[in-house]
Amino acid sequence: MDYEKFFGDAIADLKAEGRYRVFADLERHAGAFPNAASHNGPDKEEVTIWCSNDYLGMGQHPDVLTAMKDAIDNSGAGAGGTRNISGTTHYHVLLERELADLHGTESALVFTSGYVANETALSTLGAMLPGCILLSDELNHASMIEGIRHGLSDKKIFRHNDLADLERLLAECPENAAKVIAFESVYSMDGDISPIKEICDLADRYGAMTYLDEVHAVGMYGARGAGVAERDGQMDRITLIQGTMGKAFGVVGGYIAGSAALVDFIRSHAAGFIFTTALPPAIAAGALTSVRLLKDGGDLRARHQERAAMLKAMLAAAGLPVMPSVSHIVPVLVGDAVLCKQVTDELMERFNIYVQPINYPTVPRGAERLRLTPSPLHDDDKMRELVDALTEIWGRLQLKFAA
Ligand SMILES: *Cc1c(COP(=O)(O)O)cnc(C)c1O
Repeated sequence: MDYEKFFGDAIADLKAEGRYRVFADLERHAGAFPNAASHNGPDKEEVTIWCSNDYLGMGQHPDVLTAMKDAIDNSGAGAGGTRNISGTTHYHVLLERELADLHGTESALVFTSGYVANETALSTLGAMLPGCILLSDELNHASMIEGIRHGLSDKKIFRHNDLADLERLLAECPENAAKVIAFESVYSMDGDISPIKEICDLADRYGAMTYLDEVHAVGMYGARGAGVAERDGQMDRITLIQGTMGKAFGVVGGYIAGSAALVDFIRSHAAGFIFTTALPPAIAAGALTSVRLLKDGGDLRARHQERAAMLKAMLAAAGLPVMPSVSHIVPVLVGDAVLCKQVTDELMERFNIYVQPINYPTVPRGAERLRLTPSPLHDDDKMRELVDALTEIWGRLQLKFAA
C-alpha cells in the first residue's frame, strides 16, 4: 500500500469539503483577555478571541497564576508518576476534596482531562456493571460516545432531550438490568439545557443510575458554580457528575464526583485513570484555587449571563440568524461548511476577530455555524465591532439573514 498517498488523499477530501481544520496560532496575553496575538508565519496581529471555552477568563486570574507559580516553586514541574505510584501530591488530594464539596458528594476523582474522565468512567461502568444497559442522549459529546463504545455493553440512544423516547427505551429494558442514563446539562453546540429533574424522575421510576456531564456548566451555573443540577436543586439526585477544570475553571483536567463507593470503584478499575501520569501539582493547585474562587463567583456568573443576553439581542437586532439558546453559548447559523470557513477567514483577516468555524462532524451537515462565547470581559464596544463585521460579511457573501 502507498501509505503516504492514502493519507494525502484523505486530507485532500477534507479540504474539498471545506472542513479541513486549520488551527489559529495564538499567543494569549495574561491580563488582556480576550485579546491575543495571532501568529501567521513571520507576522503577528492582535486579535479578539470570540470562541474560547475559558468562559470567565479564569485562565488569567491573578490568584490562579500565583497558586500555580507557588506550586512549581514548592513541588517542581511534573507529578513524577501515576496516581498509584508516587504521583498523588497533596494538591491532588486537596483538589478532589474541594470538588466533592462543590458537588455535595462524598468523593471526587481527577483525570487528565474531561475527555478521559468520560471515556474511562463510562467504559468502566459499561464493562463492569453486570448486564449493564447504557442509555445515551443522541447529542452526547464524543468522549461519552467513545466511553460507551469501549465498554461494550448494550446501549440505547434516545432522541435529544426527549423524555418520551427515553421512557420508551427504559420500559424496554429488563426490570432488574443495570441501567445508566448518560446525558449533559448544557449542550455546547446549541446552548440548550436538558430537563434534569424529569430525567431523574424517570431514573427513579425505572431504577437507573444518572451520569451527568456538566462540563459546560461547572463554574457558571448554581449558587456556588456546581452546575445546572445545583441551579435546579437536583444535585443530590445525580449518581455521577462529570466535569472539567479546562473550561470555566480556566486550567486543565477532568473529574467525576459521586458516592464514596462509586468513585472508589472507578478509581480501582478505570484504565484511563490508573495507567497514566498524574496531572502536574501546579495544575491541581491552579484548578483548586479557581474552583474556590468561583464558589463565591455569583457576581461574575451574573455578568456572564448579562453579556450573553446582550450579544444575542445585538445579533438579533442586526437580523443575524442567532440560534435559540438558553445558556451562555451563542450559535449563529451559516449552514454550509465552505461559507462558514469563509466567514471566519474574513473575520480574522479583515477585522482581527477570531471565531473558529464549527463544521461536521461536530455538528450535522447543513448546521455549520459560528459558536460565539461572550465572557464577562467582552464589553459593548467589542460586541458592536463583532456585530458590525458580521453584518458586513453577511451582506457581501449574500448569506441568509433571519426571517
Ligand atoms: C470539552 C468537553 C469534554 C471534554 O473536556 P476536556 O476537559 O476538554 O477534555 C467533555 N464533555 C463535553 C460535553 C465537552 O464539551
